[in-house]
Amino acid sequence: METFMDTRETETTLPYIELAGAEGAIEAQGDLERLDELTERLATGEFLMETDKTIPCKCKDERLCAHMIEGPNAAGGILSLLVADDLTTRRFAAKDGTTVGALQKMIAHLQEQNLPVGVHGDEHHVNLDDPLSGCGANDKLAAIYAMIARKIDTILEYVQIIRGDADRDGAYATATRAQARTRFSSGKEVFNTVKNTEDAQTEILEGEHTGSVAVINLRSGTTLDREAIEAEFGPEYRAFCDDFWSFPAAAAAISERDNETEIQQKTLAMDIYNIATSLVLCGPGMRVVIVR
Ligand SMILES: [Zn+2]
Repeated sequence: METFMDTRETETTLPYIELAGAEGAIEAQGDLERLDELTERLATGEFLMETDKTIPCKCKDERLCAHMIEGPNAAGGILSLLVADDLTTRRFAAKDGTTVGALQKMIAHLQEQNLPVGVHGDEHHVNLDDPLSGCGANDKLAAIYAMIARKIDTILEYVQIIRGDADRDGAYATATRAQARTRFSSGKEVFNTVKNTEDAQTEILEGEHTGSVAVINLRSGTTLDREAIEAEFGPEYRAFCDDFWSFPAAAAAISERDNETEIQQKTLAMDIYNIATSLVLCGPGMRVVIVR
């Protein structure tokens, strides 16, 4: 059966698929020739750099700042782990049911294992009274959960393309849990929880969203070198990055030891949250480049 993805892949000779099903505002932009060059060079892995960290601690956000967190990228940094637990076994669920309550327990658990913890804000939301953090994956968590519930079949197609297979029943169970959550801590509460933790990392990203390409990176031990892209292409041509290779290790870190079922469930939930975040924040013209 031909899916809408197959159709899209044949539309172009460039190594990307468009983000069909996306409903957000961030779109591929800029001079087409330059954008095509960035797309092709990202696909070769030219702009990947090594990282010795093993789990996501930095957001996929394409923007830069003076002191950037170094490590694997995923939606919201630690939010990807928090959501993966919330949509599966809820091992870290707080008594009061809040996402920040679960986050505190998870941070303690990760730091006991000497694993990195990171989250970000942006320069437009540093005011103390502002309930938003500046991280869309965090501030728009309710919309992202709604997206998971609404478009799980579309999301499953992306998981299938990226991973080669997708657990349909597991995905539907994830979507059901996403639909069930009605309360979300504010983005700023989530940000402050990490900011107020010793040895956790925060960064305040600068500028506006100018991402044109969303990189899905499957090469273990690497992440996107945004400064290298900036040096070649300037601030108009930036890229999001989801380091999908790091999700299984992150899932293992927040699962019962050697419980393969739980690890697979949480890896899938992380895949789903990261794709849903792109569908909420980006538009259908966003270019998705998978680096294998
Ligand atoms: Zn973010």
